[in-house]
Amino acid sequence: MWDHEALSTIELKRLIKAGKILFAGNKNLKVYGTLQCGSGRRMKISNRVFFQNEKEAITLGYRPCGNCMRRSRKNRPENATSA
Ligand SMILES: [Zn+2]
Repeated sequence: MWDHEALSTIELKRLIKAGKILFAGNKNLKVYGTLQCGSGRRMKISNRVFFQNEKEAITLGYRPCGNCMRRSRKNRPENATSA
């Protein structure tokens, strides 16, 4: 996990390009989501953290964002509607 505050813009871009950062999280809310998530972009830099993968986020006690992480829940039988 990286704190956004601890990374320079250049370092951050490099980590994203290298595939080391795939998810962003909110330290306050303990929620993680995609880097493109709208609610993630609005948070303060001091609250923002980055993860390499979902496993890391979950291990640290973060919950998936209800906005952008819905796809990972559709494996549950109750949501498996035939569209
Ligand atoms: Zn989200």
